[in-house]
Amino acid sequence: MKVLVINCGSSSLKYQVFDMETETVLAKGNVERIGIDGAFLKYRRGDEDTITVEAEIPNHEVAIQLVFDALTHKEYGVLASVSEIEAVGHRVVHAGEKYARSVLIDDDVMAALRECVDLAPLHNPPNIMGIEVAQRLMPDVKHVAVFDTAFHQTMPDYAYLYALPYELYEKYKVRRYGFHGTSHKYVAQRAASLLGRPLSELKVITCHLGNGASVTAVKNGKSVDTSMGFTPLEGLIMGTRSGDLDPAVVTFLQEKENLTSEEMNNLLNKKSGVLGISGVSSDFRSLEEASQQGNRRAELAMEMFAYRVRKYIGAYAAAMGGVDAIVFTAGLGENSASMRQSICEGLEFLGVAIDPVKNDVRGKDVDVSADDAKVRVLLIPTNEELMIARDTVELVRG
Ligand code: AMP
Repeated sequence: MKVLVINCGSSSLKYQVFDMETETVLAKGNVERIGIDGAFLKYRRGDEDTITVEAEIPNHEVAIQLVFDALTHKEYGVLASVSEIEAVGHRVVHAGEKYARSVLIDDDVMAALRECVDLAPLHNPPNIMGIEVAQRLMPDVKHVAVFDTAFHQTMPDYAYLYALPYELYEKYKVRRYGFHGTSHKYVAQRAASLLGRPLSELKVITCHLGNGASVTAVKNGKSVDTSMGFTPLEGLIMGTRSGDLDPAVVTFLQEKENLTSEEMNNLLNKKSGVLGISGVSSDFRSLEEASQQGNRRAELAMEMFAYRVRKYIGAYAAAMGGVDAIVFTAGLGENSASMRQSICEGLEFLGVAIDPVKNDVRGKDVDVSADDAKVRVLLIPTNEELMIARDTVELVRG
């Protein structure tokens, strides 16, 4: 079965086409600057070089049409016809409390997604639009929605509730939802297969450390706690997001700096995190470079980042009554041996010990812990698109 996976942003669209008999990627790419000057499509067949097509792309319909043109192109296409695509999997950020797993999209699902727009005002509207456009262009195939929040719907109420007046939870559904669920689920499953043990018997802490970052406690295959909350702002320090702080800081700064809520939101989401601390960059490669050149604030930002992740690992080991494996994934987790090392320093009391030689690796599935370590530390590249394609096949085949 050939499956198209779509991840639609407000001015971008990422896509991959899978042959699910072999779980291989036939082609993938992205369209950027939709509706803006300088729009382009990037397309790559298998491991071949990337092709860039510049074009006027006023909307997502034109964007998907361009993707179809590339997929069926005489020279570099991978399909004889778009009708070879049997199903489409859509990444959707927020399903509120409505869906704990992926679903076949119908009118009820679309209505539920619209109800969640308040909860994810930046993400759900483009996700919804992507589905509508794809359904118009491919009316004869099944469309599946895979949600970032779904995996975390197994959290118990004492973990997902905030200690605010309970009526506010009832009225506005203010609670922890968690994000990156597809990634946490994928790497947790992969960890179990690498360890050769059923996920249903394991306590795993999954650390998705990219530009956005979150940690999840996965007990017996279920998310029981996660660091992102009502929005992706809570939890770890991120590239430009503050993560946890005393909420009183927000009102204090709003008053002192005379900031509107929008400006405050912007400060917390775009100007904080390791960028805010270092004043250098949100990218850890630049921070490592600056730190090597003696920039103390770049070094401090990385120390703070590692310390926060370490604290969450300790907290989640306590939440689960132990931990069998810690998994690192996403841009930083997959690529930075030094960050994995510094996060794990001080966790020896839990039975964590990284082997520096094994840890000197990037971008592949590998156990980097010392042979005799009680807790396995694993490096597992995430693959959210494959997880979406798998869920899509499962639902379409019924
Ligand atoms: P992601 O959001 O998963 O694409 O991760 C992006 C982030 O990963 C970048 O902003 C970098 O901070 C980090 N990253 C990617 N490659 C490396 C690397 N080789 N060393 C350190 N950090 C990296």
